[in-house]
Amino acid sequence: MQLVSIQSPEELKQRLEAERARLRREAGLAPEHFQKPFERAFTAEERKKVTILFGGLTWKHEDLMKAVFRGSGYRCEMVPTPNVAAFQIGKEYGNNGQCNPTYFTVGNLVQYLQWLESQGIPRQEVLDNYVFFTAGSCGPCRFGMYEAEYRFALKNAGYDGFRVLLFHDSDGLKASCGEPGLRFNVDFGLGMLNALHLGDVIQDLNYQIRPFEVNRGETDKVFREAVDILCTILRERRPFEIMERAPKWAAGYLSKKKTLRNTLNTLGKIREHLFGDVYVNTLHQVKDLLDTIQVDRTRVKPIVKITGEFWAQTTEGDGNFNMFAFLEREGAQVLVEPIATWAAYLMYQGKYNHERKKAVDEHQMEIAWWDLKSRAKLELKYAGKFLGISVGETLWRYFYHRVIRHLGGLTHSLVYQKELADLAAPFYNKFTRGGEGHLEVGKNVYYTVNNLVHMVLALKPFGCMPSSQSDGVQSGVINKYKDMIFLPIETSGEGEVNAHSRVQMALGEAKAKARGEFETALKSTGKRLEDIKAYVAEHPELRRPFYHVPHRPGIAGTAAQFVLHVSDRMDKDTRFWRRSRVEVPAVAVEN
Ligand code: SF4
Repeated sequence: MQLVSIQSPEELKQRLEAERARLRREAGLAPEHFQKPFERAFTAEERKKVTILFGGLTWKHEDLMKAVFRGSGYRCEMVPTPNVAAFQIGKEYGNNGQCNPTYFTVGNLVQYLQWLESQGIPRQEVLDNYVFFTAGSCGPCRFGMYEAEYRFALKNAGYDGFRVLLFHDSDGLKASCGEPGLRFNVDFGLGMLNALHLGDVIQDLNYQIRPFEVNRGETDKVFREAVDILCTILRERRPFEIMERAPKWAAGYLSKKKTLRNTLNTLGKIREHLFGDVYVNTLHQVKDLLDTIQVDRTRVKPIVKITGEFWAQTTEGDGNFNMFAFLEREGAQVLVEPIATWAAYLMYQGKYNHERKKAVDEHQMEIAWWDLKSRAKLELKYAGKFLGISVGETLWRYFYHRVIRHLGGLTHSLVYQKELADLAAPFYNKFTRGGEGHLEVGKNVYYTVNNLVHMVLALKPFGCMPSSQSDGVQSGVINKYKDMIFLPIETSGEGEVNAHSRVQMALGEAKAKARGEFETALKSTGKRLEDIKAYVAEHPELRRPFYHVPHRPGIAGTAAQFVLHVSDRMDKDTRFWRRSRVEVPAVAVEN
């Protein structure tokens, strides 16, 4: 080995640079750091001709969001639910070693652009007249790579220059292409909030009602109609404008006071979107429509709670082996997860991460113990943000539950994030970020210890880092809660039959659990099922989906809860008739 003498630090630096450059050259790497490729802006002038594409949620969420886009003056289309062909395209054009949702969603976009071309739209027009709107993140899992993956696959598939607009989970809408074309204003933001909450509530109702429908296919038909009604209101209602509503004398005054006018306008819009008669009356109309579906809640069905990775537990297609439809075919009642839980999780995490950051700031600022002013300033800064996020969390819950109330009160409430974090704490650190973090463990424990379900099915994509981590932890959870029926299923583009057969086996146990629970409940009433059914046949309100059956703690099954309630009603009626019979002769004697 030849020893080289280095005379100065500068010479050392130069030699290091030269060596680094040589190694990069030999490895075929670019001489500089990665630069984000330049992307054309989506401008306001393009709004009338550019179509915004998006997808990846359920058809209810997507239809409602599309209505808001269109109502705000955008052209908008949804890319269809990803299928196996999309997955194959994603693999063909994407990087190796990605997680399953990346392949499905990226391939799905490429597949859709190819379809546009097959319809006779030239490639240049596809590049110029379409943009894709999707969620982004800074990680720490592969979610942080989605944006780059979209660009990489699009380039490989021949769509270099196709624009991708990002909605960041931490920063809101990122102007990744410097766009003023997609603008967040009050009407658009509140419209999206309504669309998201409505989508969640409708989705939950759909899965609660369909397993018990008397007339096969009625639920899907009525829900299609209901979503169309909601879409019409989201798309077509006139936005609130203070200058149109204010009396003449006030309008004259407001026209000179810009700040006051804008403030009142914003408050008026918030009121109109969330509490306006048109909106609330439409919810009641939809509720009445859904209430026409006939249900038979004496059918015994195991309740299967779906958890897992965000996309895998939301999509309703090949991306999770069409798992929801499969479970329903096998006789289960599916308990889906609302997207609102994810937003609540992000707020909760933001709050406590912020609190922890205070200690770091305190340390860095080296505030002396007597410097009360600096200390108070720091406390105020953090308390303000903590309070701000707490208010956001409260409003989020309030608006979500408001939609639930107006739509019949049957939908499951949002679980408190603190409760989930506390339940997961013995197994999973709540500050471990990525994917669903501690949520998978927290939900598993929550639904089991509260006896709300018969089985928990975690859908986790192939190659998902955070899910693999929480899977490792779940074996400890199962050891502690012996009665738990928990099944993790890794979803990928292949192996559907294998996955279904594993689910079938676990479902067999869950069915036995639900049946046992039902029989105990029925026995405790001292009545025969035929008598309960006969009573239900005489009382049509008991065959309506929004008839309220009070929840009894410790019982999960819908049928078990129902027979106990009907039995109570039968007993009450009997007591009433007995009392009446005693009173009639007494009156007769007096006469
Ligand atoms: S949570 Fe898992 S599946 Fe989802 S983006 Fe991250 S690594 Fe991929």
